[in-house]
Amino acid sequence: MKRDKRNLVTYTMEGFNVFTEAHTCKETLKAFEKLSVKLGLENVPHEEFFDQLSFGLAKNWKFKRFLDHLKNKFQDTGKGEATKVLVVGAGPCGLRIAIETAFLGCKVVLIDKRDAFTRNNVLHLWPFTVTDLKNIGIKQFFGRFCCGELDHISIRRLQLSLLKIALVVGVEVHTNVEFEGLKCPRKNGGTGWKAVCKPQNHKVSDFEFDVLVAATGARDALCEYKLQHENGTVIKQGFDRKEFRGRLSIAITANFVNSNTPAEMKAKEIGGVSSHFHQKLFKDLKAKKEIHLENFVYYKDETHYFVMTATKASLLQRRVFKEDFLDASELMERKNIDVSALLAYARDAANFCTNNAMANICFAKNSRGVDDVAMLDFSSKFEAVNASHVIERNGKKLLIGLIGDSLLEPFWPQGTGCARGFLGAFDTAWMIRNWKSMKGKPLEILAERECVYKVLSQTTPNNIKKKYSEYSIDPKSRYPSINPKAVTLEKAKQFYDDVQED
Ligand code: FAD
Repeated sequence: MKRDKRNLVTYTMEGFNVFTEAHTCKETLKAFEKLSVKLGLENVPHEEFFDQLSFGLAKNWKFKRFLDHLKNKFQDTGKGEATKVLVVGAGPCGLRIAIETAFLGCKVVLIDKRDAFTRNNVLHLWPFTVTDLKNIGIKQFFGRFCCGELDHISIRRLQLSLLKIALVVGVEVHTNVEFEGLKCPRKNGGTGWKAVCKPQNHKVSDFEFDVLVAATGARDALCEYKLQHENGTVIKQGFDRKEFRGRLSIAITANFVNSNTPAEMKAKEIGGVSSHFHQKLFKDLKAKKEIHLENFVYYKDETHYFVMTATKASLLQRRVFKEDFLDASELMERKNIDVSALLAYARDAANFCTNNAMANICFAKNSRGVDDVAMLDFSSKFEAVNASHVIERNGKKLLIGLIGDSLLEPFWPQGTGCARGFLGAFDTAWMIRNWKSMKGKPLEILAERECVYKVLSQTTPNNIKKKYSEYSIDPKSRYPSINPKAVTLEKAKQFYDDVQED
């Protein structure tokens, strides 16, 4: 008997190490499932999950310190049924809100239609995001996170680390599950809101929830989803978006393999230079390489990551575009791009700006196994008209929140994606907290959420509060001023849908 106990302790230590070291989304989920089974946690109610996991791992001081630290983040939510939250999207923002709502005592289920984290691209982090990520224990899973002056992380690594934290705090994660819409509650059957998912028979389709958070990214913003009624009728629902169209802006991202050789270590990062301030560099690049850039960033992370904004004229001159078109979508069409010319353009620019540091280095591969160079048009940016919405059918209310790129598309060169994404995630967690505690006052909650949303697109690293250690999900801890009258209760009514369509 004694030996069995010792074996279990050894196994759980090893199991937690395997989980800590896991390199992919699939490996992480598998390692955590194994560990949970070994500790008998498969059917433990979510509110007991973290304590029981901590108990199972208490023998190791390193895990214990990490878990004790996380324990302090859980809020005492009192008695009563827990709020159930479905988060759609395991990007950085979906994962971050899943963690925060788990801290609020919610039962959280997170789904993603994919099962791999493949983006080498590097996110610039504002100082508060660095503090926040350290605060929720990222270093337990990525010890090198933002050592010294570094303020960036690859998207892939961030997702992986957040996934591990989310699992530890009790978030239930399902991959290869696509959200397609909502199933209305039944009139007499007593069921709550459910999701219509692909595959249809997945167990997530049976999960009843009170809150839906969509963190589905810019491309899949929740502009249109199915609302399936009890009688079988399906109507289209969705969040309206506004488009901001500027002049043509073409970004090129490129990733090179980083083998950390002494020569590579010498290459100096470039945290963002624009042609306006470095006229000579950009002028020489144009003269010597026919490359005309407006700005340029180089981060040395798990890959050597470059992002630059290039002019259409120079892309035509270097024959990256085969033909010129006035229409941006025709210009950027895959068949109009000469891939080898694009690779040469990116390599020449990267070499020139780093004194030939990338001359003999191979491109990293992307998820499709090809050289990781991409060109994107970010002349147009979308943002959702509103951040929240309530639907009531058959007496049951569902609160819906948008976060991340699906709420507000980022402007990459300023690194706004992750920073504003996290701010919006905290604001939404605050709304969910109020939803839990102020049942019956949905209009007030919606109005407050929309007032806070008005501030988000104006945020910069300089105009948010500086005491990062005092940040909480309460918007007042982060924004210096919010106009509480920006959206009145009357205005908020448009975000409350209780039309009986049966
Ligand atoms: P995302 O990270 O886009 O995640 C959305 C998730 O939702 C995805 O995992 C997707 O599979 C899932 N999903 C979508 N629809 C459904 C559905 N119906 N059901 C289930 N799951 C769904 N920012 C930078 O600052 N620098 C960069 O170089 C940079 N490169 C990028 C490259 C790409 C290809 C993309 C897509 C984005 C890039 N960004 C970059 C933006 C940056 O990644 C985001 O700002 C940041 O990841 C926050 O995004 P998010 O969590 O809101 O959404």
